[in-house]
Amino acid sequence: MATLTLSDRLSNAIRDVPDFPKPGIVFKDITPILQDAALFSASLDALAEAASPLDPTHIAAIESRGFLFAGGLCERLGASLILLRKPGKLPSETFQQSYTLEYGEDHLEVHADAAGPADRVFLVDDLLATGGTAAASAALVRRTGAELVGAGFLVELSFLSGRERLHGFPVHSLIDYPSES
Ligand code: AMP
Repeated sequence: MATLTLSDRLSNAIRDVPDFPKPGIVFKDITPILQDAALFSASLDALAEAASPLDPTHIAAIESRGFLFAGGLCERLGASLILLRKPGKLPSETFQQSYTLEYGEDHLEVHADAAGPADRVFLVDDLLATGGTAAASAALVRRTGAELVGAGFLVELSFLSGRERLHGFPVHSLIDYPSES
């Protein structure tokens, strides 16, 4: 029997949920990956492998599903953690950035002292769709003065061209959906 690639294993695990959270959106539910310890760990290994040559000092995690991957990445890479959070969650002085989602509009914040000019930041989230969230996150990271050295996603919906909104750093995804169906 042929060994399945990581991409095949992720594809088999990801659950399509039509019309969630709004009509017309096909939600890529990654919770079955989290329920599979070996697959969760293999996903973290693959993201760490993509980030490692970029020599990141920090992992910036996008609320909320980016948080799920950031701790494991920090542990694997010996990196520190930056939280990019929804408004009103971070207690100290923040920078804020607005963005549009595939299904709405929102804001993200980062602590102003989360990183500085000496730091190399790798951004992580579960999924790249239109790229609005990641572009806003990139802008926030750069406002701290740090260098954004790359970004990693479990899933990319490349038919939404999110990658085209991310400039100046490499973007890595573990599985791509080039079309909607
Ligand atoms: P975007 O800003 O359009 O790239 O959207 C990316 C963010 O929204 C990520 O944090 C995802 O968790 C979430 N997201 C957007 N579209 C989907 C989708 N079809 N399935 C699951 N999550 C999504």
